[in-house]
Amino acid sequence: MHKDIATPVRTKEILDKYGFSFKKSLGQNFLIDTNILNRIVDHAELTDGSGAIEIGPGIGALTEQLAKRAEKVVAFEIDQRLLPILEDTLSPYPNVKIIHSDVLKADVHAVMEQEFAQFEDVMVVANLPYYVTTPILMKLLEERLPIRGIVCMMQKEVGDRISAKPGTKEYGSLSIAVQYYTKAETVMIVPKTVFMPQPNVDSAVIRLTLHDEPPVKVTDEAFFFHVTRSSFAQRRKTILNNLTSQLPDGKQKKESIQAALQQAGVEEQRRGETLSIEEFAQLSNALYPYFH
Ligand code: SAM
Repeated sequence: MHKDIATPVRTKEILDKYGFSFKKSLGQNFLIDTNILNRIVDHAELTDGSGAIEIGPGIGALTEQLAKRAEKVVAFEIDQRLLPILEDTLSPYPNVKIIHSDVLKADVHAVMEQEFAQFEDVMVVANLPYYVTTPILMKLLEERLPIRGIVCMMQKEVGDRISAKPGTKEYGSLSIAVQYYTKAETVMIVPKTVFMPQPNVDSAVIRLTLHDEPPVKVTDEAFFFHVTRSSFAQRRKTILNNLTSQLPDGKQKKESIQAALQQAGVEEQRRGETLSIEEFAQLSNALYPYFH
């Protein structure tokens, strides 16, 4: 048996062998704790027949643990310098494929059709680069990939916003966007000490399980998301003030907005952070005819 990649000693050996220097701009904080990695993979509930998609394999710490439990792993890595390293560290795992690409520019649907055509169960599992966590997650969700869910490490503060409930200070348009597509849970809080180099912020592992059906029915998804973002534009303002200042011609259409609020049963003095996802759906459906 060879040694796991995710130990401080082996990680240092690999970095030294290749003279690798971390690029902060690419969010390179590698995991050096096999125990944490195993717990992350546990939360993905993979079986022998599962496929796994990883974003940012680094030197292969998480990829290796995924390769042991999934049938096939496909990983997107942006940093060309890591390709020869991954070829070396992951050589014992023939079920891994690395794609050299910025995941934000990649055609993930096409990759899934090619690599996972016969798979019934595919999970995304990643220790995400923190500088692009939200764009990556929103891309994966908005593209409606045929995946079961996503288990990923991120900055704790972003995780708190994603899984936040109405009435909390973390709750906002990101909570609603993610919870529209998934059931969101924080499953682990992770200390800085398990990374090399250590990040400046605390981390959390979030599990997102895709809904079969969205939890609410909306007339127009893009408009629904526009209304939720508008409602949080200035957190201290009332929902009426935010909507009149943010929606197109909102000031002239103030009376229509008031009518829609009343129709949706939302008092105009409330703040966006108190509205549930159901109330936002009712409100955007009531507003829709006045703006189209
Ligand atoms: N999975 C490894 C681990 O846990 O040790 C590395 C995780 S590190 C936090 C993030 C990784 O994502 C780095 O390898 C970085 O080069 C890569 N990365 C950053 N931006 C990316 C992007 N847009 N597309 C694909 N990979 C990216």
